[in-house]
Amino acid sequence: MKKFETPSLPYDYNALEPYIDEETMIIHHDKHHVAYTTNFNKALEAYPDLYKKSAEEILADLDSVPEEIRLAVRNHGGGHVHHGFFWQIMGPDNKNVKPEGDLLADIEKTFGNWDKFKEEFTQAAMTVFGSGWAWLVVADGKLQISKTGNQDSPYSLGQKPILGIDVWEHSYYLKYQNKRAEFVDNFWQVINWSRVAEFYQAAK
Ligand code: MN
Repeated sequence: MKKFETPSLPYDYNALEPYIDEETMIIHHDKHHVAYTTNFNKALEAYPDLYKKSAEEILADLDSVPEEIRLAVRNHGGGHVHHGFFWQIMGPDNKNVKPEGDLLADIEKTFGNWDKFKEEFTQAAMTVFGSGWAWLVVADGKLQISKTGNQDSPYSLGQKPILGIDVWEHSYYLKYQNKRAEFVDNFWQVINWSRVAEFYQAAK
């Protein structure tokens, strides 16, 4: 049975400089992400039938995961999926600091205007207590801001993420130390809105 693999970064480790530093990217991808994938596979060892599903499908139906491995799958499966997603929705050369087309129109309709959306997403990222994620998701066909603790997944809540920010300290501490606000503010400079728009089209 084919195991889950840690996808490689779709750009160089230093590509998101100066907003996200190379050392953080190396440790985040090569150590943290790889560990999530490794431990996810370890949890699935005794239940190889689960490999018939995608990792997202497994997270979307945690109740069907044997209780013995459910927490490990929730934590490490979540970490595996979320980081693979996170690398994709960022990118190095984004002249596009804003989405276009349908996605922009629907964000404006849902949140009032662009600045209000930014404010609400930032607020969510700032108020995750401890480790976790803030998300822009599609749920019931609609855009929504969401937050999850640890590696709990929007997929487990029936939500499909189209944008997300990792606010675990490992995501920013080397460069930003305790200044999560600065990290969140700089995150807007590295969002790959074309990729986010593709996730949006697929999720709608
Ligand atoms: Mn992380």
